[in-house]
Amino acid sequence: MTFVSTRGGMAPAPFTQVLIDGLAPDGGLTVPDHVPTVDAARLEGWRGLDYPALAAEVIGLYATDIPAADLARLTAAAYAPERFPAPVVPLNRVDDRRVVVGLSEGPTMAFKDLAMQFLGQAMPYALARSGRRLNILGATSGDTGSAAEHAFRGRPGISVFMLSPQGRMSDVQRAQMYSLDDANIHNLAVDGVFDDCQNIVKAINGDAAFKAAHAIGAVNSINFGRISAQIVYYFWAWLRVTDDIPAAGRADALISFAVPSGNFGNIYAGHLARRMGLAIHRLILATNENNVLDEFFRTGVYQPRTREQTLVTSSPSMDISKASNLERFIWDVLGPERFRAAWAELERAGRLDLSAEQPRFTAEYGFVSGESTHADRLAAIRAVHERSGLLIDPHTADAVTVADRLIADGLPGQVLVLATARPEKFGDTVKEALGDDAEGLTPRLRELLARPQHVIDVPNSVDAVRAYIEAHAPATTVAE
Ligand SMILES: *Cc1c(COP(=O)(O)O)cnc(C)c1O
Repeated sequence: MTFVSTRGGMAPAPFTQVLIDGLAPDGGLTVPDHVPTVDAARLEGWRGLDYPALAAEVIGLYATDIPAADLARLTAAAYAPERFPAPVVPLNRVDDRRVVVGLSEGPTMAFKDLAMQFLGQAMPYALARSGRRLNILGATSGDTGSAAEHAFRGRPGISVFMLSPQGRMSDVQRAQMYSLDDANIHNLAVDGVFDDCQNIVKAINGDAAFKAAHAIGAVNSINFGRISAQIVYYFWAWLRVTDDIPAAGRADALISFAVPSGNFGNIYAGHLARRMGLAIHRLILATNENNVLDEFFRTGVYQPRTREQTLVTSSPSMDISKASNLERFIWDVLGPERFRAAWAELERAGRLDLSAEQPRFTAEYGFVSGESTHADRLAAIRAVHERSGLLIDPHTADAVTVADRLIADGLPGQVLVLATARPEKFGDTVKEALGDDAEGLTPRLRELLARPQHVIDVPNSVDAVRAYIEAHAPATTVAE
């Protein structure tokens, strides 16, 4: 298995290289040169595996330059009980049509832990093999930064420099990041907003000489290593929900997944699982009021928004203006040749019209989509709680809303709703929905909020961040 760039300007590279490099050198996204398939016999052979073993099998179809025994060690460490209580990804039934798939049982209570903890094992492994170090530089508005810090804390060969906007994250997000006191984790609170943080990261990444001298890297949502680890839970959830169905009927069970979506990373992994042969009926893409993806899947027109057009909502991790991973799906739809012209048009006009292809989005790839509002989220949190006693977070509620609407319109079979955050992480909205019924949200958080915090305040200045990195980035090569 090798990987190529959507933009056509990268020599085929193995998994460990795209894992460390992230973005392709031509600015495109890395995609596998073919999609590996999993036939029914192999899939059934996986039924008895625990989560780390299944992860090694699924990721192993892409990470062909990591020996199987090594990969099994990496996934066993990533999904160990001290990070995720077994069974890592629990399934909870709401009623006979709906199941909630718990993707947020890791250290930062959001689904990004599942992919990031794999990177926290696989990147040091790949770096050690090539005698390299990496200094991860990132900007976060909360979730990604904390998932990265918890994955890389204390890991060899890697330091993390994470910029966050001073005073603009929730108490929980701050505590999750700033309570870490590991020597390789650097929390820099910038006197500015998230965009200022991102601009500093962009400026430093634009300085090729500095970037090379200090081995600056990233772990954002376009990293294919993260995508590969996200494919696993589609297989896992499908296998668990079909455990009780006689073998002959499993492929026809009409199982759909509903996915709270922002950058299109989570559901792109589902798209790959489906192309690998997993019998997924529909991939239900749910957005909040920032509905750029719902618009694309309904009309075929992709029109990224501006910052001013991006709303602040109560499912904030889905407040996006463009969907970075969509480029991979469009590449699949158009093929390499037509993709190039289409992407040039998008960059020229700020808009891409694929309405002629839109019928294929459902017919060929199984995608359907919908949008949810704040009132919908509150209603979904209440409805799920009333039906089953389960608490769900506002992002998961967006997916429940869209799934419920499709079920009412006649969608057959079962819907597996991916729960992308724990309800206590977004306790204010859950309390707004449930009032006194939200009792019991806080115990896990109280201890976290009481821990001492470690953060360095920096001015909104590229030079200040650059100077901090120069002073604290360890040498870029590891002595042999
Ligand atoms: C990141 C995130 C999402 C969006 O996932 P994408 O892969 O960007 O589509 C949804 N919910 C939560 C809680 C998240 O942290």
